[in-house]
Amino acid sequence: MKTEEEKREARLAYGKAWRAANLEKTRADDRARSKEPRRKEQARTHYAENIEVIRERDRQRYRADPAKKKAAASRYIEKHRKVVTERSRAYYTKNIETIRRKLKLYRRNNRDMIRRTVNEWRTNNPAKVVEYRQRRRARHVGASGSYRPSDWEALCYCYDNMCLCCGATHTPLTVDHIIPISQGGTNDLDNLQPLCQSCNSAKGVNTIDYRKW
Ligand SMILES: [Zn+2]
Repeated sequence: MKTEEEKREARLAYGKAWRAANLEKTRADDRARSKEPRRKEQARTHYAENIEVIRERDRQRYRADPAKKKAAASRYIEKHRKVVTERSRAYYTKNIETIRRKLKLYRRNNRDMIRRTVNEWRTNNPAKVVEYRQRRRARHVGASGSYRPSDWEALCYCYDNMCLCCGATHTPLTVDHIIPISQGGTNDLDNLQPLCQSCNSAKGVNTIDYRKW
């Protein structure tokens, strides 16, 4: 005849074996249970009471395998993109002074590395370099109007992503101002046309509308 204690042990061992054999279901149950309000409250309290221990454990896990943690973070961001964007925007607005200070410090301490990275990017993205330079110039001379990058992409799409001057298609397209900014042209979409880089520089400060063929 088994004692009460032995029966209890047997029950526990049975439960443990069942959970091990049904890992997927066990985990699903755990997840569902963790969403109950009472459980959430418990978790929150536990987190608040042990925040230092938890943070230290997270740090150690990160140090043990940074790639794994980064991959998990990427998956999370991918899945909750909207929430993450809103949260980081709110954080940025709230902590703008601190962020600027830290950025400044970071730039000062990593000057050479940053310069190398930027130069590399410029070499690999000549069309973007031209585009950014134009935008900066437009702002500088106080050109009126503006366009959204998505509008620009739509415009290129309308023209089959083709240079309107030479007809090249498999080449990076640059933003050409039909009436150049320096001649009083605006930065609005109706003053823009896609040209390849060499046609864009050949056009120079002339006003030529390649949209009318
Ligand atoms: Zn061209």
